[in-house]
Amino acid sequence: MQILTNFSLKKYNTFGIEAKAKQFVAIHSNDELKSILKHHSSDKKFILGGGSNMLLTQDIDALVIHIDLKGKKIINEDEDFVWVESQAGEVWHEFVLWTIDQNFGGLENMSLIPGNVGTTPVQNIGAYGTEIKDTFVSCEAMNILSQEMKTFSKEECNFGYRESIFKHEVKDKFVISSVVFKLTKRNHKINTSYGDITKELENKNITIPTLKDVSNAVIAIRQSKLPDPKELGNSGSFFKNPIISKSEFEKVHALHPEMPHYVISETEVKVPAGWLIEKAGFKGKRFGDAGIHKNQALVLVNYGNATGQEILAVSRDVQATVLKEFGIAIEAEVNVI
Ligand SMILES: Cc1cc2nc3c(=O)[nH]c(=O)nc-3n(C[C@H](O)[C@H](O)[C@H](O)COP(=O)(O)OP(=O)(O)OC[C@H]3O[C@@H](n4cnc5c(N)ncnc54)[C@H](O)[C@@H]3O)c2cc1C
Repeated sequence: MQILTNFSLKKYNTFGIEAKAKQFVAIHSNDELKSILKHHSSDKKFILGGGSNMLLTQDIDALVIHIDLKGKKIINEDEDFVWVESQAGEVWHEFVLWTIDQNFGGLENMSLIPGNVGTTPVQNIGAYGTEIKDTFVSCEAMNILSQEMKTFSKEECNFGYRESIFKHEVKDKFVISSVVFKLTKRNHKINTSYGDITKELENKNITIPTLKDVSNAVIAIRQSKLPDPKELGNSGSFFKNPIISKSEFEKVHALHPEMPHYVISETEVKVPAGWLIEKAGFKGKRFGDAGIHKNQALVLVNYGNATGQEILAVSRDVQATVLKEFGIAIEAEVNVI
């Protein structure tokens, strides 16, 4: 376990932002994690997974702990279900593909989401009608101060739309080291109702899709819509879709009857942030090396050498314009550091 100083994080964040960590260490076991936390108890610490949900706007004046814990195993099963435990440093998409190869169902709609398994509970990742909370059983996490392990049940995680306890009450207090999922072994609940999955399957003449077919459809749709961070720095959806009150919605809808929306409850409506940003005129706009993607207005991009501050300035411009034009506040999904 080697502690490196003044370490470039450019390759460790999918925006490809040049920022330096005062100190950097990669952790490969719980013992290493415990030892680092114990011996650096008075140092500031920053936990890093795959770096796909963060905008680095400055150097990190802390010990950056990169979670690289590997391994996955079946810990329980019955006739219908299997309980799989994955270590936090496993790459999420590789883990999803592995579950599909074993014919375990539940994660296929979340194929190709970047990042690591250990970070999935942090914002309750989701895509194409599925969220991690649908299959999540529990996660193990180490208390940063005491180094004691704690198991967080699904209820304790308090999952919401891109939300969990790890973004609020216990933020910066725990390092998630492993996650357990409950997946189907048979009678899979194939979910093709969301987005263009049905269309993609029809194009391939697939009428009874397997887990692999759904995963392949999701991968194809995502590849056609979202920029690959290896080619164009980005962090996926930069903003959350705002959830507004019904009365607020009715006022905006009267002015913009074409506005797409999803009724969440009797009192709340969700509006696609991408539509608001596009209508505000930002889609495809470029400001130096920072900009908004040409096909997907929800995605901010680094065309080369943008700084985090430059991307942050664009995001604030987008937020202010959307607020002025629609009276709707949009919130960053990405962690601004
Ligand atoms: C092209 C693209 C598409 C995307 N599509 C989606 C999508 O469809 N749905 C979706 O939900 N997200 C999406 N994302 C966002 C991102 O992939 C997820 O949020 C992912 O779970 C982040 O994982 P990570 O390991 O990269 O986290 P990081 O960026 O490394 O960390 C994110 C936050 O979690 C903390 N953290 C990291 N590891 C741990 C740990 N072990 N314990 C405690 N805290 C930790 C960090 O300190 C940081 O605050 C997309 C991103 C990109 C680049």
